Amino acid sequence: MDPSKLKKSPKKGKNKSNVRTLVFAVVIGLFLLFALNGFSQPDELTEVSLSDVVERANNGEISKIEITENDLKITKIGDEEATEKSIKEAGSTIYEQGLKEEATDKGLVLKVSKPDTSGQVLSAWAQVLVPMFLIGFFLFWMMRSAQGQGNQALSFGRSKARLYGNEKDKVAFKDIAGSNEAKEDLEEVVDFLKSPKKYEGVGARIPKGILLVGPPGTGKTMLARAVAGEANVPFFSISGSEFVEMFVGVGASRVRDLFGKAKKNAPCIIFVDEIDAVGRRRGSGMGGGHDEREQTLNQILVEMDGFEQGQNVIVLAATNRADVLDPALLRPGRFDRRVNVSLPDRNDRKAILDVHYKKKPLEKHVDLESLAAKSAGSSGADLANIANESAIVAAKHNRKTITQDDVTEAFEKVAIGPERKSKIMSDAEKELTAYHEAGHALVGHVLPDSDPIHKVTIIPRGGTGGVTWSIPPEDKSYHSIIEYNDVLARLLGGRIAEELIYGMNGVTTGAGSDLPKAAELAREMIVNQGMGKKLRNQVFHTEDGMVMDRMMHERQYSEQTAKMIDDEVEELISEAARRAKEVIKHNMKKLTELKDALLEKETIDSKEVETILKGSVLPKPAVQTR
Ligand code: ADP
Repeated sequence: MDPSKLKKSPKKGKNKSNVRTLVFAVVIGLFLLFALNGFSQPDELTEVSLSDVVERANNGEISKIEITENDLKITKIGDEEATEKSIKEAGSTIYEQGLKEEATDKGLVLKVSKPDTSGQVLSAWAQVLVPMFLIGFFLFWMMRSAQGQGNQALSFGRSKARLYGNEKDKVAFKDIAGSNEAKEDLEEVVDFLKSPKKYEGVGARIPKGILLVGPPGTGKTMLARAVAGEANVPFFSISGSEFVEMFVGVGASRVRDLFGKAKKNAPCIIFVDEIDAVGRRRGSGMGGGHDEREQTLNQILVEMDGFEQGQNVIVLAATNRADVLDPALLRPGRFDRRVNVSLPDRNDRKAILDVHYKKKPLEKHVDLESLAAKSAGSSGADLANIANESAIVAAKHNRKTITQDDVTEAFEKVAIGPERKSKIMSDAEKELTAYHEAGHALVGHVLPDSDPIHKVTIIPRGGTGGVTWSIPPEDKSYHSIIEYNDVLARLLGGRIAEELIYGMNGVTTGAGSDLPKAAELAREMIVNQGMGKKLRNQVFHTEDGMVMDRMMHERQYSEQTAKMIDDEVEELISEAARRAKEVIKHNMKKLTELKDALLEKETIDSKEVETILKGSVLPKPAVQTR
């Protein structure tokens, strides 16, 4: 089927309704014209008194008097047409008003005619018909919109899947940078969709469902669309959450409808984004929402089992939480293939940046390589966003090309939020922020396993008063306890600097966002990574997910262990605070120098930090971890 045909029909409908509106407007216009016509007939005759007319007629100065009821039109001798008008008394003749019989002998012609009532008749008709017509139209319009609502109610159970497949929408594998393994896995699907006979000939069972697993923004949707684009088949896209509505049964009926449509358009691809919205493990069975979700999931399973041989519909589904999916979904014959789409590594990030800057006027010297290096952890969508933001920044400055500064500004905006230069801080607050950030930077710089400091600023950004930004020199797949301990100390460095300068009770809420991060990291180390001192090499993972799930799956360890976990977390945090304190105490002069530089310049970069902190000391063995 040619999907472009689908798009044309609403256009036709629109034309039709335009014509209808036009006809309606013309009819109304005509009626109004007639109605007005009946009321006024403008003329340019001069009004004269009847006695004057009679006198002049008796004197032979008038050639013609046209009488219509009581109105007179007077044509003077020598004139072709009437130039004057007058009115006679009702019920009397003009002779009774003094006109003499002899006047006709002097050339006067009297013409008596009946009044022309055609205009009045029309206007009377119009006065009756126009309101009737308007009421009729109003009723018709009301009925039509009520019918429309009825249709909507009926279409409630239909899926909201969007159909792609137009030339304009097409995505190809070449548009997707990196993700080479994922692309290789999917090539096979493309080949199958293109030539199914080849596979069926050797008795191969074609996969029905493929699960794309990866963090948000890594290009899962793009990959699915590229499969459809490469194989040149239609592509139905729907999000898992769209199956679930307030009303029970809607999800299941939407699934039926979607699969029904897809089968009609086979070969084709169905793409279900966020499948975890409906595909979570069943069995907790509490509450209407769950029942509805289970019904929807059951229906998906039924439909996938119901594909007949030769019905080439492939279901691609995306999720970033494959671990929460119902095992029944992952059984052979359903989503039995998994394609992992991971965050891009440095080379892939460069390739993605190249793709997104290809159509943008980028200045030659802009260093995308270093942007790729420092944007570790960014997804494809983040990088696309940076490219777009930098174009916006360039346009804002009325530049025709994108400069290095625009790219840097866009990167920082996306990574840590926009600068809020307008936020007013008192001098005392500025000084406190400078000490706080200098504390982070100093600890981060001195401790060998915390990532290098990239930038320090006391300009508020995003939700914080200032930012100390450290970036790993290269992509890291693993993190050690040593590294995490240094990160914890760096996170606490701000609060500790405040404490050392302003005293125990002088500390502020400035560390409001550092403390939760530190607590989260410490807990992750103990609970999920087996990095505790006593609780080594064990994990204490609790079911996360919906509240109901968590209540149903009780934690798998004793109260005693829970207490040990809390103690271990506490110890990690206090040890990190102690180490941060040692570092700052041994480098108080450097802390003050960094604070002064921040107050003067507001933002300092990695090189300046390095220059200022040259000569800072690592207080061995007080903070030694190796
Ligand atoms: P997901 O479905 O994984 O959340 P999307 O496929 O919706 O991610 O990707 C969002 C956007 O990110 C895409 O429109 C594209 O601009 C960009 N993007 C992501 N990955 C890539 C990639 N590998 N190459 C080029 N662009 C990408």
